[in-house]
Amino acid sequence: MAHQWRGVIREYADRLPVTEATKVITLGEGGTPLVHARKLSELTGSEVYLKVEGMNPTGSFKDRGMTMAMTAAVEAGAKAVVCASTGNTSASAAAYATAAGLKCAVLVPEGKISMGKLSQAIAHGATLLQVDGNFDNCLDIARKLGEAYPVFLVNSVNPARIQGQKTGAFEVVDSLGDAPDIHVLPVGNAGNISAYWKGYKEYSAPFETANGTLPAVSTKTPIMWGFQAAGAAPFVAGHPITEPDTIATAIRIGNPASWDTAVAARDESGGLIEAVTDDEILAAHRWLSAKEGVFVEPGSAAGVAGLIKKHAAGEVPSGKTIVITVTGHGLKDPQWALRTEDGSDVQPVKVPNDVVTVAAELGLEEN
Ligand SMILES: *Cc1c(COP(=O)(O)O)cnc(C)c1O
Repeated sequence: MAHQWRGVIREYADRLPVTEATKVITLGEGGTPLVHARKLSELTGSEVYLKVEGMNPTGSFKDRGMTMAMTAAVEAGAKAVVCASTGNTSASAAAYATAAGLKCAVLVPEGKISMGKLSQAIAHGATLLQVDGNFDNCLDIARKLGEAYPVFLVNSVNPARIQGQKTGAFEVVDSLGDAPDIHVLPVGNAGNISAYWKGYKEYSAPFETANGTLPAVSTKTPIMWGFQAAGAAPFVAGHPITEPDTIATAIRIGNPASWDTAVAARDESGGLIEAVTDDEILAAHRWLSAKEGVFVEPGSAAGVAGLIKKHAAGEVPSGKTIVITVTGHGLKDPQWALRTEDGSDVQPVKVPNDVVTVAAELGLEEN
């Protein structure tokens, strides 16, 4: 019988803080493809896979955490939710709040939010306020609203979000049959690197549930490699950055909320968190679309940029299994695909309504 994916809570209920009685708010998130990256594999001599999180209902991995956060909000009797966002959290919160029948308020930083993400929040009926400040300022206000006003905070400082997001690691192991050797991903607010590490650890050891102990699923945990944008790289600096700046808006964060858990993920796994420049991010963005057939938003390409950079430095081992999470869909922020390397925009070639001219333009000769 055909099996329809039921969303991450129902698929992984025994490993999440939910019960039979929980009213699950889902849009069918998770179950995203693990795509073999032909050209990155050729480049590195390792088997490289892309976990394509743009295939989630609102086009980013944020949906994995939002199903948990919104389910928790409903369980807590909330009537309204709030979040700060660089864009994707607001798109996800707005959609899941609609599914839950809750009001949703989102705080986004002045400018630098992609049209795709803004339009999602608006389409789903969220109240969107653009704060005169950056993401870190927005998160500050959202946290205070959650503490002192009757609204439920759905940012990744809410532990339910991390619980949902750890299912990304479960799916990777379930697809590959074991954990990869290296897991690579972009790092912004650092919730996702924390969540993957949590997921990999839980899958590699016996896991206690209310109904007994589940056996370990994987034989090992991967080394975690996180990459930040050079203009927004607090983990590389070792301290928060006051004025984070990068074209990769999804990771334009100077004061990551999940600081300690991200440092733990890096250090316990024997991994690293390094920086890539905006040019390296855009080159990786082009590599993904032109060589692998996977279209992502710029922030999503930071992990790939990091792998390419480490390879150039001779620091990527061959013969290993490497998974890179590409975090959000290219249609979120499509104008980057039209930008040529000299900074101008690609213009379509105009042709008359005539097959001979079209064939000539395509360089085709008649059979
Ligand atoms: C949120 C987001 C990130 C950053 O993830 P963190 O958990 O904040 O580190 C990266 N890419 C995309 C597309 C995102 O939406």
